[in-house]
Amino acid sequence: MCSEFSRYNKTLQNKVNLPADCRLVMFDMDGVLFDSMPYHAKSWNHAMADFGLELSEAEAYLHEGRTGSGTINIITQRQLSRAADEEECHRIYARKSKYFNEFPKPERMPGAIETVRAVKECGVTPIIVTGSGQVSLLERIESNFSGLFRNEWMVCAKDVKYGKPNPEPYLMGLKKAGVDRSQAIVIENAPLGIEAGHAAGCFVIAVNTGPLPDKVLMDSGADLLFHSMAELSENIKNILNR
Ligand code: MG
Repeated sequence: MCSEFSRYNKTLQNKVNLPADCRLVMFDMDGVLFDSMPYHAKSWNHAMADFGLELSEAEAYLHEGRTGSGTINIITQRQLSRAADEEECHRIYARKSKYFNEFPKPERMPGAIETVRAVKECGVTPIIVTGSGQVSLLERIESNFSGLFRNEWMVCAKDVKYGKPNPEPYLMGLKKAGVDRSQAIVIENAPLGIEAGHAAGCFVIAVNTGPLPDKVLMDSGADLLFHSMAELSENIKNILNR
């Protein structure tokens, strides 16, 4: 038994809320399945600067999962003491998307495909729950995770009204799959996504793939924390078969 697992196994023994009969694993996408967060953070930083607004790359990680207008309004409230109007939101978000699309296509996160495969090998269904609304989303998933996800149960931007940190996206995932919250695990990298999964009543595994301190993710409601998808891939079967 590897030392990593010994460490987590010790933690697992105390996890009374870990699903005894897990049937569904809900994967966030950015920062979990794809190494896309550095591009998102840079795009936000550059787009805001174009409009005289300040959002550092580091802070962008704290807003991950929020809707575009939600993030923009927080910054205009802080800097200009007012909400952004619809047109302003549209222009800033369009600029952010333009910058993001200029970056190369994000790579699959190392360890992500191994994790998803291990979930399937345990007889558990993997689905994606993301705030992303990219039109190329399905193609991107199919070309990188061919045949692994139950795409008809996927939740993305068009499915939800509020988005993370509201539990809505994860509640919708449970509903689509017809699975109770006590039988589901959420895998998230972002504080607001962890909050959403926790508020939905699911067991949440945090994977800290970004620059935030572990404490921020644990304080958001994570039940377990790994430092990479590769590390999670080595432990996921033990978690599901516990
Ligand atoms: Mg994420």
